[in-house]
Amino acid sequence: MGTKTERHFHCTACGRCCFGWLPLTLADALRHAGSFPLALVWTPVPHGTKAFAVSERLGFTLRLPNRKQIAVTIAPTAYIPPSFPCPELSAEGRCRIHEHKPLRCRTMPFFPYREECDQAEQLVPRKGWACDISADAPLVYRNRSLIDRSDFDHERQALLEQATTMRVYADYVIKYMPWTVESLAAVVQKTGGNVITSLSSLVTAIRSLDAKGVASRQLGVLQDYAAKTAEIPELVEYHRNYVGWAKEMEYLAGAKQ
Ligand code: SF4
Ligand code: SF4
Repeated sequence: MGTKTERHFHCTACGRCCFGWLPLTLADALRHAGSFPLALVWTPVPHGTKAFAVSERLGFTLRLPNRKQIAVTIAPTAYIPPSFPCPELSAEGRCRIHEHKPLRCRTMPFFPYREECDQAEQLVPRKGWACDISADAPLVYRNRSLIDRSDFDHERQALLEQATTMRVYADYVIKYMPWTVESLAAVVQKTGGNVITSLSSLVTAIRSLDAKGVASRQLGVLQDYAAKTAEIPELVEYHRNYVGWAKEMEYLAGAKQ
């Protein structure tokens, strides 16, 4: 694997990381609203932890009822069960939209919600992943810095640019769904996890988004995922969300603007 300060990595395109949740930039989420079932994933990061500073830059800070301060990021996310492949993954394990795939997929395995100096563990493949991290693979990370930083910078910049929109959205949610703060506090208490909100709340809160257009593209996707997850006991929460969100999208798609 090289020396401790040097990391090698090559994607063999095995497709095994193309399962489950896929955090997206807002632009990528809206671009793919006709194929990905979308939701907003809130991640609370306690003060004093490694990712606090970058989460504050990409998100916002919040004081919980117990007075503890947290940073929170809100990621538009393809909300796909961990056992389900990305809808763009072919039966042969290839990406059907390789030329137009989201920034998140281009930056893999690096992750801009962490500091650049904390990326080493992103280069350790998870169980079953066929990433090549041998010395023969290209050198991608040295002295806690990326060798080729173009995709990482591009994704990080997109996240920074959408941060204002996400803060406006957070204010809306905290005002009209104040129990979200309690849910964040509960997640911090159990030291991990996320809070999920619907895409319909985002397109309602941010008036510049084309709520009707987004809703008409999401409706069929959510209905499809509701059907695919019906009667799978371990996916009952996914199923309930898809059904509820499809109804919200149905309303928005038909609502007068
Ligand atoms: S868009 Fe392509 S690369 Fe990204 S998760 Fe889906 S199949 Fe994988
Ligand atoms: S698991 Fe590794 S090798 Fe397989 S597609 Fe993902 S990054 Fe590439």
